[in-house]
Amino acid sequence: MARLPLQDMARMSGPRRPAPFGDLQSSVCLDAIYPGHNHHSYDWSTNLPETIYDVAIIGSGPAGYTAAIRAGQLGLKAAIIEKDPYLGGTCLHVGCIPTKALLFNAEVYDHVKEGTELGLENTAGVSLNWGTIQKRKQGIVDKHAKGLQFLMRKNKVDVIKGYGRLTGAAKDGIHTVALEGGEQKSIKAKNVILSTGSVARMLPGLQPDDRILTNIEVLSLNEIPKSIIVIGSGAVGVEFASIYKSFGAEVTILEMLPRYVPVEDEEVSKELMRVYRKRGINGFVNAKVEKVEKTGNGVAVTFTVDGKQQKLEAEKVLVAVGRAPRTDNVGIEKTKIEVERGFVKVDPFMRTAEPGIYAVGDIVADLPQLAHSGAMEGIVAVTHIAGKPVKPINKLRIPNATYCHPEIGSVGLTEAQAKDRGYEVKVGKFPFTANSRASIVGQHEGFIKIVTDAKYGEILGVHIIGPNATELIAESVVALEMECTAEELSNIIHAHPTLSEAMLDASNAVFGMAINA
Ligand SMILES: Cc1cc2nc3c(=O)[nH]c(=O)nc-3n(C[C@H](O)[C@H](O)[C@H](O)COP(=O)(O)OP(=O)(O)OC[C@H]3O[C@@H](n4cnc5c(N)ncnc54)[C@H](O)[C@@H]3O)c2cc1C
Repeated sequence: MARLPLQDMARMSGPRRPAPFGDLQSSVCLDAIYPGHNHHSYDWSTNLPETIYDVAIIGSGPAGYTAAIRAGQLGLKAAIIEKDPYLGGTCLHVGCIPTKALLFNAEVYDHVKEGTELGLENTAGVSLNWGTIQKRKQGIVDKHAKGLQFLMRKNKVDVIKGYGRLTGAAKDGIHTVALEGGEQKSIKAKNVILSTGSVARMLPGLQPDDRILTNIEVLSLNEIPKSIIVIGSGAVGVEFASIYKSFGAEVTILEMLPRYVPVEDEEVSKELMRVYRKRGINGFVNAKVEKVEKTGNGVAVTFTVDGKQQKLEAEKVLVAVGRAPRTDNVGIEKTKIEVERGFVKVDPFMRTAEPGIYAVGDIVADLPQLAHSGAMEGIVAVTHIAGKPVKPINKLRIPNATYCHPEIGSVGLTEAQAKDRGYEVKVGKFPFTANSRASIVGQHEGFIKIVTDAKYGEILGVHIIGPNATELIAESVVALEMECTAEELSNIIHAHPTLSEAMLDASNAVFGMAINA
């Protein structure tokens, strides 16, 4: 693994608040290399010299497209290579965006079903138009895919269709990326960013089809299934469980570990399992799936819990057991890039061990597979390429957001992790039952838990389960970034009546002095 050269260390420890992108005038200027070169309208039919990009980005998911946009903003000549007919990757087409569109439908439907309490009448006969729901979801995706095309044009990024592969080390400082499936055979660039993303892991021997589903098939079913078994209770599993339960399916979760959302604080898992039970979502933990087989009309899953074998049948099975990095068949073996269980090892500036090649997004080892993490990794990589000051990613400042009902938002250390690291821990916890806005929106489940270091009061982690947790967590990320103490947070005025007041109460609860509970 490459060690950081001294000038990079200097960049890391540079002024606390540098001008955002330094001196843009000093960034790479292609006109100096090719006088008269026009980024907008390169005419491939004429005999101009081959373009040498400052950066070629392979893969247009959130990690890749964010890197491309920032490259353009920094004055770098950038190209983005995409094998699919559209930009946006997993996140936009079969991940973050379509799932959240369906979750919004599910939430509205739940409100209407419980409408009597809100004074809505004649709601008994309300039904779902699945076609309209699917159309709306697709409309949102298409709109944002078009938006990305616009952003590429706006930032003078060349979009190149095709499958990209690394070809080895740079020659005279220039890398060649081989292309397949498009008009060009290769492109040249001084730097390459690999952002090829991930694919759903499958259980051994299974192939996705119309009954055994991954995140791709489950998003465009012809109709709402009557029953579905979800294998895996990470973010993807619990979100789809929530969606299809709200839409009326019988849902069962099978989780191999002792609790749902195992990366979250234990109390959050406990609360989610409690609320899911209350919502009628069946679930088994410590469940080892042994066999998945097709039956006449559906799929049967055989699994063992505490040595006892059981079998369940449903119309569909969703396999949500994690995501594998897409690092096969991209030419990594021709480089010095180091790989660990398929994930690419990088340094704090997202550099791989091959000079001039960076990696960002879901393929990166030891960072979470999240769109916002990938996007920031893309910014770090490209800013480093441009030679501007840049702050490496701090893993403990990356928020988790799970959009199930109730939502989960978290950042920093869990209580158990803080104790494992030797902190004397002081916790403040505040339930949404005591928050007036939670009463107004009719969502009382959950709490905010703040984990602090008893010695200095610094907030080490915040764990929220409840209404709008995925929005509320933003304040906590800022608090952690600013190394805020619970006392400082307890002096910050929060508007009333808001869900965010629960943050204020939770910070007061660290000292046993919550106002509202
Ligand atoms: C159901 C689901 C819901 C999710 N919800 C969220 C969420 O709410 N919030 C969140 O933060 N994250 C969420 N994620 C995770 C998020 O989607 C990923 O972290 C994110 O998409 C990773 O971005 P990426 O740019 O690394 O890769 P991807 O988005 O996977 O994009 C990679 C791109 O590279 C292209 N590509 C691959 N190989 C090549 C090649 N050789 N040549 C050319 N192009 C290539 C692919 O076609 C693709 O377009 C969700 C994931 C799933 C599956």
